[in-house]
This record gives sequence, C-alpha cells and structure tokens, in this order.
Amino acid sequence: GKRSDVEFDPKDLKLTFSAIKILGSRYLIKDPETGRFIETPQMLFRRVSRAIATQEYKYCIQQNNNEDLCKDRVKYWEELFYELLSDQRFLPNSPTLMNAGTKLGILSACFVIPVRDSIVTPDGEGIYDAVRAQAIIFQQGGGTGFDFSELRPEGDIVSTTGGIASGPLSFMRMFDVNTEVIKQGGKRRGANMGVLHVWHADIEKFIDAKSGQLKDVNLQNFNISVGAYDYFIEAVMNGGSIPLINPRKTNLRRDLGNNSKFYAITRARHYLYEDWVQEVIINELESKGGSIWLDETILLTIDEAMIIAQEEKAIVGYVNAKKLFEKIVRNAWDSGDPGLLFIDTINRRHPVWYLGKINATNPCGEQPLLPWESCNLGSINLEKYVEYDEYGKPRIAWQRLAEDIRVIVRFMDNIIDVAKWPLPQLEEAVKRTRKIGIGVMGWHHMLIKLGIPYDSADALYLAYYLAEWIEYNAALASIELARERGAFPAYDPDKYRPTWLSAKPLEELLAIASIDAKPSKFILELLSSRPQIDWNTVEVLRRKYGIRNAALTSIAPTGTISIIANASPSIEPIFAVAFERHVTVGKFIEVDPLFLEYLRKYELDSPELIEEIARRGSISDIPYMPRTIKLLFKGALDIDPKWHVLHQAVWQQWVCAGVSKTVNLRFEATVDDVRNVYLLAWMLGCKGITVYRDKSKAQQVIYVGVKM
Ligand code: ADP
Repeated sequence: GKRSDVEFDPKDLKLTFSAIKILGSRYLIKDPETGRFIETPQMLFRRVSRAIATQEYKYCIQQNNNEDLCKDRVKYWEELFYELLSDQRFLPNSPTLMNAGTKLGILSACFVIPVRDSIVTPDGEGIYDAVRAQAIIFQQGGGTGFDFSELRPEGDIVSTTGGIASGPLSFMRMFDVNTEVIKQGGKRRGANMGVLHVWHADIEKFIDAKSGQLKDVNLQNFNISVGAYDYFIEAVMNGGSIPLINPRKTNLRRDLGNNSKFYAITRARHYLYEDWVQEVIINELESKGGSIWLDETILLTIDEAMIIAQEEKAIVGYVNAKKLFEKIVRNAWDSGDPGLLFIDTINRRHPVWYLGKINATNPCGEQPLLPWESCNLGSINLEKYVEYDEYGKPRIAWQRLAEDIRVIVRFMDNIIDVAKWPLPQLEEAVKRTRKIGIGVMGWHHMLIKLGIPYDSADALYLAYYLAEWIEYNAALASIELARERGAFPAYDPDKYRPTWLSAKPLEELLAIASIDAKPSKFILELLSSRPQIDWNTVEVLRRKYGIRNAALTSIAPTGTISIIANASPSIEPIFAVAFERHVTVGKFIEVDPLFLEYLRKYELDSPELIEEIARRGSISDIPYMPRTIKLLFKGALDIDPKWHVLHQAVWQQWVCAGVSKTVNLRFEATVDDVRNVYLLAWMLGCKGITVYRDKSKAQQVIYVGVKM
C-alpha cells in the first residue's frame, strides 16, 4: 500500500537509505489516524527552520514596531536556516528535529537533574521529584544526568522512620526501571548518566554496579562515571589513601542552605584531611581572619574550616587510592563502565563557575551542567568545508565556515526561547545562562579528503587550529547577539571565565603524550590560509557588550544526526570501512562513502573485493591495498588508543563544555591499556573519559565486519 501522502522533493533523493530509514522511524510526522507520512525530509527541515525563525519576530518587534519589516526578517533567517539544514552543513540535535513546530516543547538533548537526600522536597528536588522530571524529559526525547552523591549510603539510618536507607545504588535501579517503562511511549529509548563522587561511602559498590556478573544485567539504561577529583588522581600516582564520607553526617547542605557551598566544603575537606594541613590553614585563618582561597574555586572562611575540622564523624573510613583506581580500570576493561569525570577540570574551566559547582553531565558527557540546566546541541558537518582548487588540491573554506557559524549561533539562541519547558525549574535555569552547544561531525571524513591520517601530528595541528576558529567565530557571533539582545542574565563581566583564556598550548599536549613529530609542509600551508585570529579584540568586545550565551561549544556523539548527514560521527574515526549497525529500527550494512570513492579512483571497486572487505571489516590485512588507502581509512580499532585521547584533548582546549568521545579498544586490549588511557586523559586536561573494548558486552551498537 501507499506509505506516504506526500511527494518527495528531489533534494530528498540525495539522502542515503539509512538516513531516510532513520528519519522515517521517529522524525517525520505521520497522520495519527492513518499512520501515513505527512512530511518529507525537506518538509521537516522547513518545519524546523520556520519554527526557530519565528523568534526573530519577537525580538524584532520589540525594537522596530514595524510588522512588515519584522515579517521580512523572519523570512530572511528562515531561508538561511533552511539552506544550512537541507544542505546538511549543520543539523540540530534530535529533539529539535523531532519536536520543533509541533506540540512537544523540548528541543534540547541534555539535562542534569538534582537529587537531594529526601523522598520529596518542597522545592521539587527530592528523589521522586527527580524520577518525575526524568519521565517528562524522556517522553520528549531528552537525556538526563544525575549526581547521586548527596544520598546517604546503604545501611545508614533514616531518622523519620527509624528504618535503614537503601543507598544510591538501589535508587539508581528505580531510575533505570523508569527509563525502561517510558521507552515504549517516548520519542526514543532514554539515556542516563549516573555519577557518584569518589569520596562517597558507597563508591566501591558503584564501581562494581555494571561489571562482572552484573554486566548486561544491571542499570542497562545508564552510563556510569566516577566523579574523580585531582586529589584522588594524585593519590593514585603518588600513593596514599582517601577518606570515604557519609554525606548525611556532614549536614552541611542544611546548615548552610546552599548547594554549591556544600560541595565547596566537601572539596575543602580533602585539602584539610591531613592533620598538619588543617593546622596550618586554621592557624592562618585565625591570625589573619576572614577567608582564604584554597584554590581558584574554593573560598574558605574560618567558620567553615572549624566545621570541617570537627567533622571527623562524617568520615566513615579510608580507602587506598591505587586499589580503588585498579577496581575502576579493571571494570572499565571488563564492561566499559565506569568512566571518569574530572570534576576539578570541569569546574576550573566552567565559564560561569560563580553560579555553583558542576557535579554531573548529560548521558554522553559532552555537557557538564548545573542542577536543572539543559543545553541544546547542534553539529557542523566539517566535510562540507573542504573545497578543491583548480588543480584538484584540497583546501578549507575558512570564511564560509565563519559565516555559517554566525547563522548557527543565532539559530541556537532562538531555540532557547522557542522551546516550551515542561518544568519551571528547567526554564529558569536555562534562561539564566543560555548555554548552547555547537559541535562537529565529519571530522575524520574531512581529514580523509585532505589526505591526512587520523593518527598523525598533522591531524592534531588541524584539530587545534580548526577548533580555535570555531570557538572564535562562535564567540564573536554571541557577542554580536548580546549587543542586539543583551547578555545572558547571569553574566558578570569580571567573574566570567572565557574558555579561550585557558586553552593549553598544543606543544604542551604533544609533549605530555611524547609525540615529537613536526607538522608537514602541507599542513603549515593549510593553517596559514586561516584568517588571523585576535582574541584581544574578542575580550574588548566582550567587556563592552557582554556575551549572549554562557557556553558556546560542545562536542556531541552525533549518533543519529551523523547518519542523517552521511558524515563520520563527531570527532571519532570511522568505525570501520564496512560495518553492521544495530539500531532500534533494524540492522544496517554500511560501507563508508569516501572509501568507495577511493576504491573507484584506484579501480579497485569490484563487487568481489567490496564483499571481501565488508566481511573482514578491515583493510589492514589486504596486501594489494594501496598504502594511502590503508593510512587514511584506519578504523577506530586500528588506531592506537593514545591518538583517540589526543583528539579528545586537543578539541577540548577550545570547547566551552565537554567532548563526548569513546576510546575504542580492541578485544585484546589489556587492563594496562585502560589505565594508561584514563591517566593520560587527566594529564591532557580532558573533562572526562570513557573506553569501550570491542565485544566486551553481550550487545553492542556497531560490529566490525558484516555477518553474511
Ligand atoms: P543526536 O545525533 O540524536 O542528536 P547524539 O548522539 O549527538 O544525538 O547525543 C546527544 C545527546 O542526546 C546525548 O548526550 C544525550 O544527552 C541525548 N541522547 C542521545 N540519545 C538519547 C536517547 N536515546 N534518549 C535520550 N537522550 C538521548
């Protein structure tokens, strides 16, 4: 029978089969009565562009009071948005594609929900308040992250009932079941991040929650990460123990009535737990009075120091840092969980650090957020910015990229106002900082088109300069918007900590990872074609006009949108030249499109050979495969883990939020490999780290090679 009531636009024919299949599954609107499609992909891009452009009217009419002029302006931006989307140079995250212009109001992918140590609280921040918020967000296709560290440990007392507390792990199971239940009716299967900070009394149970016998069984809708502080990693490297704490016994949250203070003190405690340090600090406070900065984020007053000093009772034990770390890396080797979140790095580099401390991220880690905050994401398809000169030599369209970024920042700022927020806390938090997350996809494809192997110093040089270019243009665009619409409400020109002032130099990163290769002549030429950047001017303009969005950039996994755009995902290397992908709507066999082009160029595109390659999943063992193809088309598992971490770290330098990256390891990888990856990530200034060893779980999303 006829499946659709609409004619396809010729532009739709450029989409791949996988793209159309994905769009058809949940994105294109269907008639609820007949189940037939009433929307084509181009109509979807039109619906989204139009919905997001309507906001221009509201801003315009406030300033001009001229209806015709403002209607024209809407039309103008709608066309620019539509052109970006339909050309697949940029795509917003799935919730925007699904919901913009419909009755559903959530347009963002990323949320962090607070979980206080109570069943419910008057301000809606208790455990069951969080369960409710999670259900509402899943219903519309968002993902949720939680820090469970405030929950008292298992076996602790419950004063209101005299009962025994069940602890963070059992509550997490409930959030997991909630996800399972909502799955059926929601827009897509929900995803969660569960965080427990390394000082929590139940940390060992948490680390074991998804490994060994619990693998493939427990918390299947969660990624879990240990909140790792610098003091912990330092103790891992230098030896020593760290204290374990029962958060209920601290009582600090209630005493001080301020969550960020609670955590500041939790952290300060770690500076103070050595008796002699405590003595020195208290002496200093007593002699000088007032307060002292323990580090850039912790201001400690004498009263607080005294509370901590008397707080021995909150410490329930000590654990050897190395042993705890071994448990973490062994389990990550075994099952991929837990990952690490580097809480100090996250907070040191948080632009609006003065609003409180960040304790959790969204499911895939690219968005460290404050409680109730959310962020909309959108990714630039980098492959589209490779051009060829008259001799067929590839180059980068820097200027065109800059112009598109200006449109993208506007598009994403509008999303915040167009969205309908299902909970008042969400709206309040997002409108306070107006964070947006511009990311990328098609990075490996871009490198292939430029003839640069992923695992090369050249790739890192380009990553660094390109990431800086994106951040620079996003900053200029957001400052321009602030001039027009005002800075984000919580903007404080003196306290705001711009990401661009804290990027580590590339040479430093390369030295840490012992890479001493120099950039090639080609790459130097490519980099020198980039227009000049002047961060001083950005700072002058920022101080003059403010900035519209507290955070600008974030590198998401682009799981679905990269399929729609037929781009290599995010900053990941292609998984393999041919692979089988398992998603909710079915199985796909995929051969990389650029790889096919190369085979054609070398006249190697015989069906027999392609079939052979698809079966193997890798070309590294095919003797007559040209060296260039072998170098350019290394898949995720052919690339040494060190290079995975380096790409993440280099991009992170110019990214305001986080970088989602999976360090893919071969099945044969060892626990040592995982340990090295985790420590290197911390040393290079990543905000978090995750590994996944091939075939370590019963089910995975992508398999190398096609089972024919
Ligand atoms: P997409 O390509 O669909 O826009 P990404 O793969 O880039 O999404 O993921 C971005 C973010 O979207 C994730 O970090 C997570 O917060 C959210 N997300 C992704 N998949 C899901 C899902 N199945 N359910 C809920 N949220 C999700």
